Amino acid sequence: MFEGYDVLIVGAGPAGCAAAYDLARVGKRVLLLDKRSFPRHKACACGLTRKTMGALRYSVEPVVERVCREIVLQIAERPGAGALADKGREVRVKTRNPICAMAVRERFDDFCLKQTLAQGAELRKIEGIVALREVAGGVEVDVAVGDGGVETLKAPVVIGADGSNGQMRRLASQLENGSPSAQDPEWYARGFALEAIVPYAALPTKLPEGDGPLDLVFDFSPIVGGYGWLFPKGDHINIGVGGFVPRTDNAANNDRPHERVTRTLLNLYTMQKLGVDLAAVGAHVTGQYLGLGGHAYVPRGRVLLVGDAAGLVDPLTGEGIHSALVSGQAAAAAVLEGGDVAAAYARELAGLQETLAFSHRAARSFYATPERGFKVMRTPILRSLVLKTYADGLPHTKLLARLAKAVA
Ligand SMILES: Cc1cc2nc3c(=O)[nH]c(=O)nc-3n(C[C@H](O)[C@H](O)[C@H](O)COP(=O)(O)OP(=O)(O)OC[C@H]3O[C@@H](n4cnc5c(N)ncnc54)[C@H](O)[C@@H]3O)c2cc1C
Repeated sequence: MFEGYDVLIVGAGPAGCAAAYDLARVGKRVLLLDKRSFPRHKACACGLTRKTMGALRYSVEPVVERVCREIVLQIAERPGAGALADKGREVRVKTRNPICAMAVRERFDDFCLKQTLAQGAELRKIEGIVALREVAGGVEVDVAVGDGGVETLKAPVVIGADGSNGQMRRLASQLENGSPSAQDPEWYARGFALEAIVPYAALPTKLPEGDGPLDLVFDFSPIVGGYGWLFPKGDHINIGVGGFVPRTDNAANNDRPHERVTRTLLNLYTMQKLGVDLAAVGAHVTGQYLGLGGHAYVPRGRVLLVGDAAGLVDPLTGEGIHSALVSGQAAAAAVLEGGDVAAAYARELAGLQETLAFSHRAARSFYATPERGFKVMRTPILRSLVLKTYADGLPHTKLLARLAKAVA
């Protein structure tokens, strides 16, 4: 058994690196464990909002491929959904300041990992996590290594940053409940998103629906309970479809839109928006689950969950990198506080969870009738409020109440 680290972090994506960076820079001995070798692909449109850029501890300018100052919101009329106002299916919202920076996840994550390792954190490639045990003085982690071997590592605190598909959330839940099998906790829900990379060179001279190739588009037409997007990068468009409306307790509404996010849907959508067939242009298509429900996560013991592992994707926007950074930093702050690390993490995480609880309610309401929410965007004051919320995070309470009323 190896015990030389203050903190073990499983997963070296944005959440794991954010935690490791803050811990390593003040001299903590940190080991990041990841089952992939970097640089590695991760399905993600990698839109970095102003609040995400603000949360990063360093500039990521070297990997930003484009900066967008306008977003285009679109919707189609659905039968029975109530007619849209006069002015068609599109709202363009422009600002002087950048709303969202565009990067490619493979390069973004590799860049962030390098910044983190430069602070003194270490990285080790593993095959996966086999078991967790809380023991006197910390947590033991059984790690699958090459050739079928298993090694045990021990540290005072372990951070689970292994994303939506990882093992840590289930193992932490098993530890908490003492159940024989590792299952997702009650509070956890998930969405799903699929994306494709379409080079500008493969596009027709004019896009079928009149979109500009450099438009940053959120389109609420292709799926109920989610949206389609066009994110313009340096040499390609990232086009995708995601469903992430939160699970509801009402059986009649217990619809799972993410189960309808399929390759066929994405291909139809790509033909409609970009006029190309994904197979014909050899587009790279990938997808992944999104971790939701984390507004109700209660940290316990000495295993802290962060990012998608903790279900912290925003259910209104599908944005998860901001939460990954903020929760990673919150976990690091809790470790540095000392004492009851779970209670400290709960306090550090409370602001983000409050925001996500608001998004959860707003998403239920918005995705039930997006046409109504879309109408809100036609009112200039509310439009700028919604935009500011997306780019910068929630405004102060008074404005928030107004926004809540508008989308309810
Ligand atoms: C198609 C799509 C588009 C998206 N677009 C955006 C967007 O534009 N903007 C935005 O903000 N968010 C977006 N998201 C959400 C965003 O990708 C996630 O919220 C974010 O990646 C979460 O970061 P994380 O560090 O928690 O997890 P991840 O980025 O998933 O990192 C987890 C890490 O853990 C490692 N790992 C997994 N399992 C194990 C294991 N068993 N053992 C060891 N290591 C393991 C993985 O290799 C990975 O490196 C999108 C998601 C999808 C699916």
